[in-house]
Order: sequence, then C-alpha cells, then structure tokens
Amino acid sequence: AKSAGGNRYELADPEADARAITRHGLTTALPAALERGEFFIEYQPLVHLGDGSVRGAEALVRWLHPQHGIIGPDRFIPLAEHTGLIVPLGRWVLEESVRQARTWEARHSGAGPLRVNVNLSPMQLTHPNLVSDTVDILEREGLAPGALCLEVTESALIGADDDLLKPLRRLAEMGVDIALDDFGTGYSNLANLRRLPVSVLKLDRSFTQGMQHFPADPVDLKIVEGIVALAHSLDLAVTVEGVETGHQADQLRELGCDTAQGWYYARPGPPDRLHQLALLDATG
Ligand code: C2E
Ligand code: CA
Ligand code: CA
Ligand code: CA
Repeated sequence: AKSAGGNRYELADPEADARAITRHGLTTALPAALERGEFFIEYQPLVHLGDGSVRGAEALVRWLHPQHGIIGPDRFIPLAEHTGLIVPLGRWVLEESVRQARTWEARHSGAGPLRVNVNLSPMQLTHPNLVSDTVDILEREGLAPGALCLEVTESALIGADDDLLKPLRRLAEMGVDIALDDFGTGYSNLANLRRLPVSVLKLDRSFTQGMQHFPADPVDLKIVEGIVALAHSLDLAVTVEGVETGHQADQLRELGCDTAQGWYYARPGPPDRLHQLALLDATG
C-alpha cells in the first residue's frame, strides 16, 4: 500500500495488507453481505467407514466477497462471533442446510435419508431462541429432526452448567443429533461426557494427522482406540475428520471408528454433487 507520508515506494507486504483489509473492512461488511446474499454453503460428505456409503454431509459456510473472492469461515466466523452477527448468519446456515437436506431426501433413493450436520457457535448456544428457531425451521421445511445433527465444539461445552445444556437436551429429546466437535482438543473430563446430551464424538483432525505416515505412531493409535472404546461404551458414534489417505481410512476403520470425513473421500462442494455421490454409491 502507498503510505501517505511521501514514502511512495514503500514495499508492500501483500499478506499483511490483505489481513488489514479483512480484519477491519470485513467486520463492517458482514451485515450487508448477509443481506445481499454473499454467503453460500459447501457440503462435505460423511462416509460410513464400514461400507463406504455416503450418509450425509457437513454444511460449511463461505463468503463470496465482491472484491476479495471466496473467503473461508476461519477468517470471518470469529469476526461474526465478535459482533454478534453469527446469530442471524448461523440461523441462515441452519435454514439453508435444512432446506437442502429436504431436497436430498425428496430425490434420494439410496439407503437411508441423507443427513445434514450444521455447526453451532457458542453464541447461538446461549441464544434464547435456539430451540424455537430450530423447531420452526424443521417444521417449515418438513425435515425430520433425526436428519439434522448440530455440531458443538468441545471447548464450548467445557464446564457447561445445566442452563447451557438445557436447550441442547431439548433438541436431543426431539431427535436432533448433537455432535461434540473437535473432540480431543479441549481437555474435557472424559467422565463428563455422560452428562452431555451428545450422540456423536467428532475426533479432531490432529488425531488423523498422526496417522498420515506409515507406520503410524503407536501411541496415537492407542489413544484413538481408547477414545473409540469409551465412546462406544457410552453409546456414542465416532466420526473422524481430516481423513486424507486410504491408509488413514483403513486404520480408522480397524480402530472401530464409525464415520469419516476428509479430502480422501471428497472436498467440500456444491449440494448437487453430494446427491450425485450418494446416488453413485447407492447404484454402483
Ligand atoms: P470444522 O467444523 O472442524 O470443519 C472441518 C474443517 O476441516 C473444514 O474447514 C473442512 O473444509 C476442513 N477439512 C475437511 N476435510 C479435510 C481434510 O481431509 N484435510 C484438511 N486439512 N482439512 C479438511 P473450513 O470449511 O475451512 O471450516 C473451518 C471451520 O469454520 C470449521 O471447522 C468450523 O469451526 C467453522 N465453520 C464453518 N462453517 C460454519 C458455520 O456455518 N457456522 C459456524 N459457527 N462455524 C462454521
Ligand atoms: Ca464441524
Ligand atoms: Ca471439527
Ligand atoms: Ca476444527
């Protein structure tokens, strides 16, 4: 960037420059972006490790910025959380994802209905309308609660008291699945798991990363094996994220993980592609 002080040939650090635009400009641009419909959702398949079938997808939001192109959620979700815009943005993501899951359901002829996983921010979790908004959206779109899974990070639930857990419990009682996202990164007390209304553990990518190379670190394998055993003893399903190689998939299957997600299967993509992948695997 050209500085105002006459230092016209100052060397720009393009990355620092981009970050400067983003932090300041992006934050103020968020509300208008939501109104103008600049956000869109990509869906990444969730694959059953046992038979390789596509069971659903995680909804991942992106921002198509008119000047900066596609911006990933790691860059704007924290800003939206900071300003509170995450509440209407998160509601939009939920509505859009539920509508999409309903479309898959109507067109899908494979095994079960395709399910959709939606990320919830801590601020959405404490919002008084979480349950009523979710119920409204499911009813309006006509999607069965069992086709929706809400992902909550482990760190958002650390030390959670009953007030925080009550809405999640209500949703779980209705049949909505709750997944504990990024599990293993939050130092939570494992015994605490019993208290939480969750039905799925999503093992953080850091665990799968340790299995990228052959031979995998035996301690990593033992840890995953232990987590899977504990999860299953509590009737929780285990999903692993960040699966990038067939070797990882094989090991995670052997360790008893139930569902996998990662570039090895598919990158996040448009909603129709998920439907095609699921159809392909149902017919061939
Ligand atoms: P997350 O919930 O842990 O989502 C998984 C992230 O891992 C996604 O990044 C996904 O694209 C990426 N990923 C999937 N497979 C692989 C793989 O094999 N290798 C590697 N290296 N990465 C993989 P993405 O889409 O950039 O999203 C980042 C984070 O942004 C998400 O992490 C989630 O915390 C947040 N996020 C995304 N969409 C939403 C949303 O609608 N609401 C909220 N509150 N947060 C969201
Ligand atoms: Ca997630
Ligand atoms: Ca995750
Ligand atoms: Ca993550």
